[in-house]
Amino acid sequence: MRPLLILASTTLMLAACSKAPPPAATSAPAAAAPAGYQSTFAGSGAHFTERLKKLASDEFEGREPGTLGERTTTAYLKDQFERMGLKPGNNGSWFQSVPTVEVALQNTDLTLDVDVAGGKETFAYKTDVVVGNLSAKPEVAIKDSELVFVGYGVKAPEHNWDDYAGLDVKGKTVIVLVNDPGFGNNDTTLFKGRAMTYYGRWTYKFEEAARQGAAAALIVHETEGAGYGWGVVENSWSGPQFDLPASEDPAPRLDLAGWITKSSAERLFTKAGLDFTALRSSADVRGFKPQSLPAKLSATLRSTIKNGTSENVVALLPGSSRPDEAIVYSAHWDHLGKDTTRSGDQIFNGAVDNATGVAGLIVIAEAFAKQNPPPQRSIVFAAVTLEESGLLGSRYYAAHPPIAMDKTVANINMDALYLTKTARNFAVVGYGQSELDNYLKEAAAAQGRVITPEESPEKGFFFRSDHFNFARKGVPALYAKGGTDLFEGGETAGRAAFDDYGKNRYHQVSDEFKDDLPVAGAVADLEALYKVGSKLANETSWPQWAADSEFKAVRDASKK
Ligand SMILES: [Zn+2]
Repeated sequence: MRPLLILASTTLMLAACSKAPPPAATSAPAAAAPAGYQSTFAGSGAHFTERLKKLASDEFEGREPGTLGERTTTAYLKDQFERMGLKPGNNGSWFQSVPTVEVALQNTDLTLDVDVAGGKETFAYKTDVVVGNLSAKPEVAIKDSELVFVGYGVKAPEHNWDDYAGLDVKGKTVIVLVNDPGFGNNDTTLFKGRAMTYYGRWTYKFEEAARQGAAAALIVHETEGAGYGWGVVENSWSGPQFDLPASEDPAPRLDLAGWITKSSAERLFTKAGLDFTALRSSADVRGFKPQSLPAKLSATLRSTIKNGTSENVVALLPGSSRPDEAIVYSAHWDHLGKDTTRSGDQIFNGAVDNATGVAGLIVIAEAFAKQNPPPQRSIVFAAVTLEESGLLGSRYYAAHPPIAMDKTVANINMDALYLTKTARNFAVVGYGQSELDNYLKEAAAAQGRVITPEESPEKGFFFRSDHFNFARKGVPALYAKGGTDLFEGGETAGRAAFDDYGKNRYHQVSDEFKDDLPVAGAVADLEALYKVGSKLANETSWPQWAADSEFKAVRDASKK
């Protein structure tokens, strides 16, 4: 086996930090922008470049959790934070151990057998379905579990929508659509129209099905709704899957979860005497009724279970007057490690993903450490692990925060800053989610820049990096980076740079530091993100979620 590749593909499924989309190609008024903004932050980039180069060097071996690369990286981070006079951030320690459970499916020659309309339909692993065990049991046997089509499988009080209303799915297998009704219907008044809400994410589908007591759930794959092809799903589910142990996250988990290709779903529904296309459309409309299938699913999954740990590195700058309130900057230090079966270059250096974010975390920490007087609120710098394996380090942090989540004012996350010249536009992933957009708008305007929405909000990137774990605990979170409209070269140059990264470097050994890669864009981004946090740290207000945000209710509840 090739563990590295498996980890790499796990990533695609879970994280996608990474390839946040370029912003919408809105043309900013040229008159508002200077000829080309150059930041003087972080020694005009020199301090950033030094850290970036170090973190992306071969010495760090691709920063894979559980390897020498982890020990080198976390020791380096502690040293950096300590040297600038910060305090250990996790109740007196620089480190926060994140327990993990790794589940690897053993019987990968399995099939899913469905008794339907007096016959048997068989679905083959990988070509028709991918499945895994989320409950971390060595063996689970699903026997004659009744199939129910539950539409989008969404229970969203703020949208007055409940696909499970009056339905009992205990022990059953739910078939569910990816994305949400607003996307399916392309109706801007439903949910958020084409922009994906968390209810559209595959992780949500499994969480909700488990809360409803289902034994199993299969998501029907459609490229448009998922945001990626079947190949990505197939790769992602082919290797070990990482999670926090159930003891750390007591939410119910499915015994069997996975995806089914659209053509396989059509075959199943046809055999059951149902019209998949018609049912699929009915799920887009308010008042949708779930549909039982005259079908029962059976399958046995055998998995090996391994426990492990990896470290978050947490530093603290105590607030001068309100130390119990915090702004948390986050960036994941982990990447994909190395693949010793490769010929030639074996190290996935992860320069962009995410040495840029971690180097950024260090230079922002340095700027705060020099503030005199120190900021009024505390600043936490969290270099988190296991983002590439499902945002686990940040999830653990959010479950065990040294400063409580309801006392955490905001999260500012940095993941894969682009190494381009400075962009006129700042692309906000999850644009419109919270008032943090206004803070960034002001900081960007001081640079002659504007903020723009991400280009593909239907792909759900807001739910695909570490800030999401803060959001789901109710903490307003900002995830933004330079877009593709460059001061020098405009949209053409920016798009070319973005496409080059996506095609030639993203999650490849070629994501390396090179002296000729420009850092100006990343440094300008960091300066703006520093200013956002600095303003928050020196005021008494609490930024709010937007009224239509799926995270508002959690914050409102915690504020009571
Ligand atoms: Zn990343």
